[in-house]
Amino acid sequence: MNQRFHALRVADVIIETEDARSLVFDIPGELAEEFRYRPGQFLTLRIPGAEQGPVTRCYSLSSSPHTAEPLTVTVKRTPAGRGSDWLLGGVRVGSVVHVQPPAGRFTPASLDGDFLFLAAGSGITPVMSILKSALAAGSGRVALIYANRDERSVIFGKRLDGLAADHPDRLTVRHWLESRRGLPAAAGLRALAAPFRDRDAYVCGPEPFVAGAVDALAALEVPSERTHLERFRPPGPAPGPDPRPGADSPARAPRSVNGLQLVLP
Ligand SMILES: Cc1cc2nc3c(=O)[nH]c(=O)nc-3n(C[C@H](O)[C@H](O)[C@H](O)COP(=O)(O)OP(=O)(O)OC[C@H]3O[C@@H](n4cnc5c(N)ncnc54)[C@H](O)[C@@H]3O)c2cc1C
Repeated sequence: MNQRFHALRVADVIIETEDARSLVFDIPGELAEEFRYRPGQFLTLRIPGAEQGPVTRCYSLSSSPHTAEPLTVTVKRTPAGRGSDWLLGGVRVGSVVHVQPPAGRFTPASLDGDFLFLAAGSGITPVMSILKSALAAGSGRVALIYANRDERSVIFGKRLDGLAADHPDRLTVRHWLESRRGLPAAAGLRALAAPFRDRDAYVCGPEPFVAGAVDALAALEVPSERTHLERFRPPGPAPGPDPRPGADSPARAPRSVNGLQLVLP
């Protein structure tokens, strides 16, 4: 894997919700090959820091390589989060961000199957990339179960409505709003996912949501080799500055735990 950082210019900043922005990058011609990606992959961004030194953070690509969209990541603010704070507060059109080429294995081998996606909050980001790719370049049916705090915090809500209108026979979107139904626990997710139990499942979101989704899929007897997980948070202590220069690639190879594909930074 290429771990070099490249200085990329931000071509656009899109306000998605009150606390989420999409950053669109300009990719110069000479880097086009290096920044080719598969749906579901992520970029590693360097976050500068005058006193504490730089840190790195991973952000999944929300754009699809199959729809001629420019390379885009979507960042949701984490309260008191160093990386997301800087990206949402300090980055403007024309800013330069240091970025590693795409990495990650939360990506389907083929876009032609039927998919079940379970996403919560910013976990929609890699899911959106795969979902758009499957609709544009695949031939199967796609179901999305998407959990959020309330209507205002739904990232890509309008885009999903548009895609559902464009693909009424292929795309099913089921929203779960915590404000109306409480936390999305395994029993509720299981009921929503049951009609799609024969599909490959892709799960991304905060840890409690992922745990609930895994329980729901296991209860529906979805085989573990058809259950794919992307975890946004490393287990263990809260992140600090990079331990040493050059050690700033969190993009490690995924590993398998109980047959589940995990990408752990
Ligand atoms: C593969 C992958 C893909 C990802 N994709 C996305 C994506 O598409 N969109 C997205 O928004 N995020 C994504 N993330 C998450 C992202 O990388 C960051 O983890 C997230 O933005 C939080 O980083 P931060 O620097 O803002 O917060 P951090 O500074 O890491 O802080 C996180 C939390 O920990 C607390 N904390 C920090 N330091 C300490 C400390 N010393 N002691 C106690 N508490 C502390 C903070 O208060 C905060 O609440 C992804 C992560 C991975 C691994």
